[in-house]
Amino acid sequence: MKNLALIFAVLFVITSCKNESKINLEDTQVESKKAEFSIVIHGGAGYINRESMSPEKEAEYTQKLEEAIKVGYNILKNGGTSLDAVEKTINVLEDSPLFNSGRGAVFTHEGRNEHDASIMDGKTLNAGASSGTQTVKNPINLARVVMDNSPHVMLSGRGAETFAEEQGLEIVNPSYFSTESKLKSLERVKNSEKDKVSVFYDPEIKNSKFGTVGCAALDKHGNLAAGTSTGGMTNKRWGRIGDSPIIGAGTYANNNTCAVSSTGWGEYFIRGLVAYDISALMDYKGLSLNEAAKEVIQNKLPKIGDGKGNGGIIAIDKNGNMVMEFNTPGMFRATMNDAGELYIGMYND
Ligand code: ASP
Repeated sequence: MKNLALIFAVLFVITSCKNESKINLEDTQVESKKAEFSIVIHGGAGYINRESMSPEKEAEYTQKLEEAIKVGYNILKNGGTSLDAVEKTINVLEDSPLFNSGRGAVFTHEGRNEHDASIMDGKTLNAGASSGTQTVKNPINLARVVMDNSPHVMLSGRGAETFAEEQGLEIVNPSYFSTESKLKSLERVKNSEKDKVSVFYDPEIKNSKFGTVGCAALDKHGNLAAGTSTGGMTNKRWGRIGDSPIIGAGTYANNNTCAVSSTGWGEYFIRGLVAYDISALMDYKGLSLNEAAKEVIQNKLPKIGDGKGNGGIIAIDKNGNMVMEFNTPGMFRATMNDAGELYIGMYND
C-alpha cells in the first residue's frame, strides 16, 4: 500500500514538472514574438467621456492622434530611430491647439504660457529636458538638443531660451501660444471656489483634463525612447515645474525594461517617481510592463495623494508590448504596431 502511494507521488511530481516546462515553453514563445518596432502616444488624461464630448471634437482629436502617430510609425518603419519618432510625433501634437503642449499650452496664474519637456534615450540613458520656456515653438526639440548638444540634462527659463536660439530652433512671440479655450479654462479655475491654488483636472468639473502629450517607441535597432511635452497645469504659479521635464517622473527610458511618458497631476507623479518606478518594478521584481503599470497607476499613485494622484501613462517594453494605464475617466491615446494596426482610444472602455 505504502509502495503504491510512493508510485503515485512520483507520478504526480513528474506530471507537475511536465506542466511547468510547458508553461515555460509558452512563455518563451511569447517572448520570441518580439515586435520589430511599435509606438504609443498620449494626449493627456482627465474627465474625457462620451457625454461631455461632441462628435465634432471627437473627430478632431481622432484625426490629430492618427496624424501624429503615423509620423512616428513611418519613421520607425523606414528604419529611423525611436528618438526621432518620439520627437517628430510630439511635434504634431505640439503644433495642435487641441492639446496642452506647444501651441495649446495652458495658462499660468499670471496669464502666461510656460512649457516643460523632456526626452530620454533608452540605449544610453542620456536625457534632455527644459522647463519654464515661453518662446520656443516646439519644446521637445529643445529637450532633444539639450540632450544631444549640451553637457547638461535640464535647462530652464531664459537660459534655456538662449540655448534654443543658439541651436537655431524656431522662436515665436509668446502670443502664438494664446488660445481662447485655454484662457477660458484659466478663468474657470480662478473662479472655482473649491481650490484657490487650483489645478485644471477636477473629477467634479466636466471636461477638465490634463492634456500633456507624450510618446514612447521601440525601433528596429531594439532601442527604446520616450518624450513628454506640456504647458503644465492651469493656474500654476511661482515658476511651478511639473513632472513632465523630470526624468524618472514624467519620462523614462531604459532598453533593459521600458520607455514611459506620464500625464496627470505632476506633484504626485514627482513624489511617486512614476515613470522610473514602473521600470524599477520590472527590473527588480521581474514584473511585466502591464503588471508594473497597473501597480503604480492604480495602487501606489492614488495612495500618495489622498486620491489626488490622478493621471496615467503610456509605455512600451523592449519586446514592443504597449500599455496605456490611467486612473481618470479617460485618456487620449493611440498605438501602432509593426503590422501597421492602429488603435485610437479616449474613454475608459
Ligand atoms: N503632468 C503635467 C504637469 O503636472 C500636467 C499634464 O499631464 O497635463 O505639469
